[in-house]
Amino acid sequence: LATLLAVAETEVVKRLFNKGIAATVTQTLDLETAIWVSEDLGVEVETPAAESEAKKTQMLEEGDLEHLHRRPPVVTIMGHVDHGKTTLLDAIRKTKIVDSEAGGITQHIGAYHVDVEHDEKTQQIVFLDTPGHEAFTAMRARGTKVTDIAILVVAADDGVRPQTIEAISHAKAAEVPIVVAINKIDKEGASPDRVKQELMEHGLVPEEWGGDTIMVPVSAIQGENLDGLLEMLLLVSEIEELSANPDRLARGTIIEAHLDKSRGPVATLLVQNGTLRVGDAVVAGATMGKVRAMVDDRGERVEEALPSFAVEVLGLSELPSAGDEFECMAEEKEARAIANSRAADQRETRLQQALASRRVTLSSLSAKVQEGELKELNLVLKADVQGSVEAILGSLQQLPQNEVQLRILLAAAGEVTETDVDLAAASNAVIIAFNTTFASGARAAADQTGVDVREYDIIYNLLDDIEGAMEGLLDPEL
Ligand code: GDP
Repeated sequence: LATLLAVAETEVVKRLFNKGIAATVTQTLDLETAIWVSEDLGVEVETPAAESEAKKTQMLEEGDLEHLHRRPPVVTIMGHVDHGKTTLLDAIRKTKIVDSEAGGITQHIGAYHVDVEHDEKTQQIVFLDTPGHEAFTAMRARGTKVTDIAILVVAADDGVRPQTIEAISHAKAAEVPIVVAINKIDKEGASPDRVKQELMEHGLVPEEWGGDTIMVPVSAIQGENLDGLLEMLLLVSEIEELSANPDRLARGTIIEAHLDKSRGPVATLLVQNGTLRVGDAVVAGATMGKVRAMVDDRGERVEEALPSFAVEVLGLSELPSAGDEFECMAEEKEARAIANSRAADQRETRLQQALASRRVTLSSLSAKVQEGELKELNLVLKADVQGSVEAILGSLQQLPQNEVQLRILLAAAGEVTETDVDLAAASNAVIIAFNTTFASGARAAADQTGVDVREYDIIYNLLDDIEGAMEGLLDPEL
C-alpha cells in the first residue's frame, strides 16, 4: 500500500497508529482500512464494480474479485398452489434434458440444470426443484441465499391469489429479482392481461406497461413458450452479472441430505463459489468428510462441479442439514478441527437458547429505536378481512416516518400461517394479527423461532403500539 501511495511505510503505520490501529509493515489490511489510509493521504480510491457484486453474493471474498467468471443463474419457482409450479419444472426438465440425452436417466438430487442457446452460445440455468417457498424461506431464515432469480407462476385463469402475494413478499424481502410466468394460457377463460393488472396492485409492473418486471405467458402443459421464459431468465441473469471464482476451493450450501442405507450420508451440494472436486476435504455445518464420489443431476459420475452447479456427494461422516453452508479446506485435519469446534458451538448455542430465547419483539425493536440502532420497522400484517387490512394499512401510512420507516413485508387477509412466521423470522419482523387466529402449526413455529405475534382486536391499540415502537417509547414490559 505504501508503494502504491508513494509514501514511506512508516507513514502508513503512523496514520494507522493515530487511528488507534497498531499494525506492522507486513500486516494485511482489510479493504475499508486501506481505503481510509489512502484517503487520509489525499488519494481517492475507486472500487471496481465487482465490489458491490461481491457484497450481493455473500459467498464471494475479496481475493476472488480478480478471478471472477460468469456463472449460471440458480432459479426457484414460487406461486400459489395448483398454478402449475410442478408441471412447469417437469416441462422444462423434459423438453430440455430428455430430448438431448436420449436414454439419460435424470436424477432427483434437488436441482437440475438445462442448456439453452442464447447469444449464440450454450448457456446453463440451474433450477432448484423443490417448488414452493418453504425451502426458500427456511434457508433465508438461516441467513443463506441460494436463489438468484425467482419465477413467480400465476395461472392465467385464476389470477393473483394469497400465496402469490406471499411469494412476492418473500422474493422482495430477499431482494431476489422476479420473472413472472403467466401459466395456463391454453385454458378457456385465461386472461394474461387481468393477471398483469392484478400484479400491478402488488407492485409488479410489466415491462410492456412501462415497468421493470418481465412477464412471460406460457403453457406448462403444452410446453408453449418455455424457450421464451428461459431466454428471459438468461437476460435477467446477464443484468445481474452473476459471477464466481472457479479457481479456488469450493463453498456453497447443502440443499438436500438423506441417509442412504448402503451409501451412508448423501448430500446435494450447490456450489456457489470455487470448484468442488472429488478428494476435497469438506466441512458442512458441524459435519465433515472427504468427497468420495459425485453424481450430477443427469446421473453421471463427475470429477468436479463448477459454480452454480449442484452435485450429490458421498463421503460426509454425518448428515448435514439442508441450508447448512459447506466449505472445502486444503487439509482434512483443518476440516475436522472446524467441524469439531462447530459441533461444540452448536451445543453451546442450544444451551444458550434454552437459557434465554432470543426473541425479536416489538418492545425489543422499540428499545433499538431508542438507541438509534433501528431505521426500519418490518411488519407482517394479517387481518380477518380485506377491509380491515386496507383500513390498517391506511392508518399506518399516516404515522410519521421521518425517524423510522415502516416496511410492510406482507399485508393480507387470513390466519397467521407458518410461512408468515418464516417470513417474519427471516426478516426480523413482528407479526400483527388483527381479529384473526393461528393456522395449525403457526403458533408452535412462532414459539420456536421467537417471532413476536401481536394480537389485536381494536385498531386504535394496534396503531398506538406501532407508533410507540417507532418512537422508541414502547414500554419494555409489553
Ligand atoms: P402446483 O401446485 O403449483 O405445483 O401445480 P401443479 O403443477 O400440480 O398443477 C396443478 C394443475 O394444473 C394440474 O392438474 C396440472 O395438470 C394443471 N396445469 C399446470 N399447468 C397447466 C397449463 O399450462 N395448462 C393447463 N390447462 N393446465 C395446467
